[in-house]
Amino acid sequence: MFIKEQSDIPPFESRVWLASPTMHGEELKYMTEAYETNWMSTVGANINEVEKVAAEKAEAKYAVALSCCTAALHLCVKLAGERLYGKPDVGHGAVEGKRVFCSDMTFDATLNPVVYEGGIPVFIDTERDTWNMDPIALEKAFEIYPEVKLVVVAHLYGFPGKLDELRAVCEKHGALMIEDAAESMGATYKGHQTGSFGDYAAISYNGNKIISGSSGGCLLTNIIEDANKARKWSTQARENAAWYQHEEVGYNYRMSNVIAGVVRGQYPHLEEHIAQKKEVWVRYKEGLEGLPVSMNAFEEDKSTPNYWMSAMLINTNAMCRQVRDDTKAIYVPEHGKSCPTEILEAIASINAEGRPIWKPMHMQPIYRMNGFVTREGNGRARSNSYIAGVTLDVGADIFARGLCLPSDNKMTAEQVDRIIEVIRRCFE
Ligand SMILES: *Cc1c(COP(=O)(O)O)cnc(C)c1O
Repeated sequence: MFIKEQSDIPPFESRVWLASPTMHGEELKYMTEAYETNWMSTVGANINEVEKVAAEKAEAKYAVALSCCTAALHLCVKLAGERLYGKPDVGHGAVEGKRVFCSDMTFDATLNPVVYEGGIPVFIDTERDTWNMDPIALEKAFEIYPEVKLVVVAHLYGFPGKLDELRAVCEKHGALMIEDAAESMGATYKGHQTGSFGDYAAISYNGNKIISGSSGGCLLTNIIEDANKARKWSTQARENAAWYQHEEVGYNYRMSNVIAGVVRGQYPHLEEHIAQKKEVWVRYKEGLEGLPVSMNAFEEDKSTPNYWMSAMLINTNAMCRQVRDDTKAIYVPEHGKSCPTEILEAIASINAEGRPIWKPMHMQPIYRMNGFVTREGNGRARSNSYIAGVTLDVGADIFARGLCLPSDNKMTAEQVDRIIEVIRRCFE
């Protein structure tokens, strides 16, 4: 077996990350303010300011600051569930026993909250134009499961999905939409922020997102009663009484005022981070020209991504053989061809961090019994492996042929170029 020549490409002295936090100084000032005024709590000026700025930026009427985006999505599911099905008895979830349509190729945090609430995720296949939920498959899913009333849509890697079409399908069937905008903060669709299209939405300040509080997230809504309800649930659901009075179950989901200080200091730098991410993505796109690959896709006439994650897809006819089981991958090197496993190994060999595409949920052991709907109807992936000629659903296909490239906003042009050279060698 031969190994493609990479040894003359020097490794980076310090690791080049997929996506790492970028602090600017104001964060420390607001954290210090929290410390010096002793608002070392889940109450304080930073939280109020984050809620104000987050709502403004996201074009939502209200933002509720929470410990993370997963918590925000959980409360979104509860709010939507109670609106659709009424208040459940204590100890039961708001969507218990109900099917909920969910994005398939995404981080599992998109739909974990559906399961927390006793719902049954049914996964909707991905389309190729934006790598997000396919509106045609969604329409198909309503034919198969006409009783469904809730859809959870994520915008993969900061590239907006087909919001007009997805919304139209939801409205046609009287379903509510939750938008998981964790990865897409600042990205727009037809001039409006992702997160402003759903009935409820969630954004994230996790350490690797476009701006970071180290952790944290916000729930977005235009309904004041729902914002107040989410705030109440997130602080143990205390009733307005002289003592701790409880009529419903509560959570400890509120954002810390220290974390809020970091988030507050980050917001003024959101556009700057997006511009840096865009530069990285464009440099990859131009640098990879001539190779049998493409970059992650979006509708150029409608969307402005935040370019959070640069990802690439290898053309079908340029894939070498690659086999994956539940935990490992192997491949057979071949001249003129490559695969995500080979490229990820090559990137790692020069001290940089890449990552496979999110493995679609319908391929995950935990969800092997859940429904999965493609344009053709109810289906399952036939294989984890890439064997030319075998038709996979879109999600399985992008997972087999795609990968995330080092996308840190602090990457220099020279660093991006070195990654491009490594990828180029993989196709020799
Ligand atoms: C990061 C992420 C989340 C979860 O965000 P946390 O703030 O870490 O809870 C949810 N959905 C998607 C698509 C994400 O990428």
